Amino acid sequence: ENNFEFVRVSIPDPKEGEFLVRNKWMSVDPYMRGRMRETKSYISSFQLNKPLEGGSVGQVIESKNNKFKVGDYVLSNFGWREYWLSKDGSGVTKIDPNVAPIHSYLGVLGMTGLTAYIGLLKFGELKDNNDNNTVFVSAASGAVGSVACQIAKIKGCHVVGSTGSLEKVKWLLDQARIDNALNYKEVGEDNISSELRKLCPNGIDIYFDNVGGKHLEAALDNMKVFGKIVLCGMISQYNLPPSQQSGPSNLFLAITNRLKIQGFIVRDHYHLLNEFYTNMSKWISQEKIKWQETVVEGLENAPKAFIALFKGENIGKMLVKI
Ligand code: NDP
Repeated sequence: ENNFEFVRVSIPDPKEGEFLVRNKWMSVDPYMRGRMRETKSYISSFQLNKPLEGGSVGQVIESKNNKFKVGDYVLSNFGWREYWLSKDGSGVTKIDPNVAPIHSYLGVLGMTGLTAYIGLLKFGELKDNNDNNTVFVSAASGAVGSVACQIAKIKGCHVVGSTGSLEKVKWLLDQARIDNALNYKEVGEDNISSELRKLCPNGIDIYFDNVGGKHLEAALDNMKVFGKIVLCGMISQYNLPPSQQSGPSNLFLAITNRLKIQGFIVRDHYHLLNEFYTNMSKWISQEKIKWQETVVEGLENAPKAFIALFKGENIGKMLVKI
């Protein structure tokens, strides 16, 4: 938390074409960790002594722009701040508070929901009626994982999730209604593989990886021939220096089992947002998708909320209420 600073600045009054937004909610996400170091990536590093960025939902409070009126709710990437001035509305999307609570546009109806949707349906190539397919999801009770689990159930799969507490296991079984859940902290990371052998006796068709490391190795041990591994995230590795990051020691199994392994980044797929909204809204209204949120109050507590992601203190989407 010492690496963050809460700074007060003055914001100019909006000029012609500009509008002022007051943020109500912001998202903290594991990918932000990658932006806190200088490496070449799909997204630029955060800059020292500049505000961080991230998903936020706010309300227009002053406007000299015809398209954005006072009272409108907007989604943007100008999180980690209370107020911001838009020059011309670029990168800002209006959202309808009558369709869903505004903060759900940061979670189940937003980036993390879309990530689960794209990952499973596009890269997992999951079709309808997959009675015999077994899907394994790690960080299964998190924002992405919990939606991925339930989409796989909607598509008729046998779903097994891994997560880090008994409470989370219970939520996955009782609310998300997946078939089996394991607490990797209880069984021990070295035993995930043998646990999976019991829970997926016929092998895994699709592994949706949010964690990397030992989870990825354990999944590789248990994949079916011609199975697919969707690489969504590797949160177990994000705080490790490169020299300590572990590749799976059993990657050769990808050859012997003719696996397809593919990584993806959600921001390449925003053109599918409308299709996603249509399906996700339908599933939510049919109560086929449930979700949880962990809310931390106050912008000053955003660093704490962000760091908590790496300790598993959230269940479902981690949000900061500003
Ligand atoms: P989550 O809501 O899942 O929060 C993170 C969770 O990860 C924690 O609650 C914790 O749950 C688990 N975790 C933390 N550290 C470890 C560890 N060392 N080993 C195992 N589990 C750990 O976050 P998101 O849903 O936002 O993100 C999930 C993953 O998806 C991340 O890897 C993220 O980077 C990735 N992602 C990728 C995107 C893409 O475009 N490819 C887009 C969005 C997210 P638990 O108690 O179960 O351990």
